[in-house]
Amino acid sequence: MSLENKNLVTNYPSAKYSWLKSGGKISQLYKIHNQIDLRNLFLKNDINNKSFLVIGNLSNTLIKDDGFKGIGIKLQGDFTKVQINTDHMLVGAAVLDNYLSKFCYQNGISGYEFLYTIPGSIGGNIFMNAGCYNQEIKDKLLSVIFYDINDNKIHEKYITDLHFDYRKGFQKKNTIILFGKFKISKGEKTYIKKLMQDYESIRNKTQPQKVNCCGSIFKNPKNQSAWQLIKSSIDESFYKGPIKLSKIHSNFFENDPNISANSIDLFISKIQKRVKEKHNIILERELRIID
Ligand SMILES: Cc1cc2nc3c(=O)[nH]c(=O)nc-3n(C[C@H](O)[C@H](O)[C@H](O)COP(=O)(O)OP(=O)(O)OC[C@H]3O[C@@H](n4cnc5c(N)ncnc54)[C@H](O)[C@@H]3O)c2cc1C
Repeated sequence: MSLENKNLVTNYPSAKYSWLKSGGKISQLYKIHNQIDLRNLFLKNDINNKSFLVIGNLSNTLIKDDGFKGIGIKLQGDFTKVQINTDHMLVGAAVLDNYLSKFCYQNGISGYEFLYTIPGSIGGNIFMNAGCYNQEIKDKLLSVIFYDINDNKIHEKYITDLHFDYRKGFQKKNTIILFGKFKISKGEKTYIKKLMQDYESIRNKTQPQKVNCCGSIFKNPKNQSAWQLIKSSIDESFYKGPIKLSKIHSNFFENDPNISANSIDLFISKIQKRVKEKHNIILERELRIID
């Protein structure tokens, strides 16, 4: 069977799978199970000059209502595996954070407890330099293994040569993150479990649960909290309606399912405008909005 038939999904409904339960369709989404699939995809002539979008667990992505007309890529199969080697862990980009955290606990590996509460994938984490509780993915990462669409080759870059910053990780254009090589340090299983439970309980107390949301809407400006800037700039109307700010955390919004992605985008712009007017600060979006 050709790659086309077996791996292609047309009109992939991002709203069905995204954490926001909103978003337009991806006209052509290729499910890539291994490196052979990847090479076959880029051998196809008709995909040249198209734009690409790799999706992870869609916990930080909103595709606008008109949809994404380029080529979508979703890693599966070989990219959902974790392998423990002597001096590192090889983690597929499609491995989910919660899975990796539990895997590390089971194998007595410490340092990955914070991932227990992030709903993304390792690829998304490396792209975003995801983090919480004063830890970021860059602290654990040794290198990134990626496919470069420009030269159709797989490369490896060491963290020392990358310039990760707050919520800005490996964002090299036309590349697909395939694996991360991660540090291994041994820890006490009871301690690891306790930390995972503590993080979960903090999260349950401080952030809205069981709602459609994307995590933080905006990055925190240096030495400031986005939620405080927002709270002090808006009126009560922002806490009402089908897209509303969370009463628990003002840098989170909650939305009704299948609400227009463009209206979410507009809502976010309105908050940005209010904060700019009040504090003369332009909040930078953490949520990735795709046209
Ligand atoms: C309830 C909730 C809580 C959250 N809490 C946190 C938190 O505490 N800390 C935090 O940092 N984030 C948090 N987030 C945001 C989100 O989980 C992270 O940004 C996560 O890293 C996104 O991973 P993902 O797989 O869902 O990525 P997606 O949303 O699928 O993609 C995000 C970006 O990464 C790119 N990308 C994904 N995979 C690849 C790949 N293999 N190769 C190249 N590019 C790729 C996409 O193109 C997109 O631009 C939260 C989100 C939610 C819904």
